[in-house]
Amino acid sequence: MPNFAPNKVKARVFMNNDITQNPERTDRGYQELQRPELTHDSFYVPSAQQATQMRAAEGKPCPYCGTINEPDAMFCESCGNPIGKMSCPNCGSEIDPDADFCESCRHYIKSDVCSFCGAHLTGNEAFCPDCGSPRGGIVCPVCNTLNDFSFCKQCGTPLTDDARMLLMRVKEKPEYREMQQVAREIQELEMAMPYSSERDMIRDQKNSQLRERVLKLLAQDKGIADPVIPDPEKRRMSKAEYDSKKQDRLNKLAEILEKMAQAPQPKSAQVRNYAMACKPQGVRLVWECNYKHAFHSSPCGCAKPQLGGKWVVLGRNSKKEIKDDI
Ligand SMILES: [Zn+2]
Ligand SMILES: [Zn+2]
Ligand SMILES: [Zn+2]
Ligand SMILES: [Zn+2]
Ligand SMILES: [Zn+2]
Repeated sequence: MPNFAPNKVKARVFMNNDITQNPERTDRGYQELQRPELTHDSFYVPSAQQATQMRAAEGKPCPYCGTINEPDAMFCESCGNPIGKMSCPNCGSEIDPDADFCESCRHYIKSDVCSFCGAHLTGNEAFCPDCGSPRGGIVCPVCNTLNDFSFCKQCGTPLTDDARMLLMRVKEKPEYREMQQVAREIQELEMAMPYSSERDMIRDQKNSQLRERVLKLLAQDKGIADPVIPDPEKRRMSKAEYDSKKQDRLNKLAEILEKMAQAPQPKSAQVRNYAMACKPQGVRLVWECNYKHAFHSSPCGCAKPQLGGKWVVLGRNSKKEIKDDI
């Protein structure tokens, strides 16, 4: 390391001099001598503060509680949070020791935990003894995507019996029904066409008057004197009315999704599966994780979904970056 050589030489040269002869010296050489790692004299006693600093340099301070841990510790001995870094067995990227999915190479990486149900695995079982899922993954029968998790990350189809049962249970919940109703209303609004101008509106009114007249004449031809004319199936509205209606529904959906946010769970499979089962259909959404508050297309793309998260409505022109896992 050539960068260190000049300093070392300087320190050694200086230590050969008698510094007591010149105690007021404050040039760089003297300051360097004051640094603990360069001071080997027997009379050097580190202050309490310096001792803490030295210990911090040797050990690993926990970013959560401040405890100084052993240099090779992976988890804090005091609060249990992950403090070490591991490398992904598949691509070598740096990952947290409690992550079970690598966001760089998009691989499930915990060989001793079933990705489908979170059960502990001991050996190289081909199928999980708890849930029976194949450890090599399940191909979605709808879109042919290979999946490591219980719901298809691409199309949301439940892939295991447990997932199908979970989905049935979730669909019974009143908040799920309400959410799905609002999502349907948003979908319908997105297909509706608001008036683009006053002229557009007048033209449409004329059209509907014409429609009414024609239907009345046709009815009279059949001998019905006073026919009931049904309203047209889709009622058009002004742009302002449309926008406020849509915003109102989007706000309502956001409110329900907030209520359905996922709390942290001991097993990442619990959050992945439950969140996938709760995803409303027909609206553009992203999963916001509590780990890095990143937007994933689903919790299947997050390294630590066990920390919880929620579905967030993504506006049509949103510029938010999505960490996509597909
Ligand atoms: Zn700690
Ligand atoms: Zn990787
Ligand atoms: Zn399993
Ligand atoms: Zn699929
Ligand atoms: Zn994440």
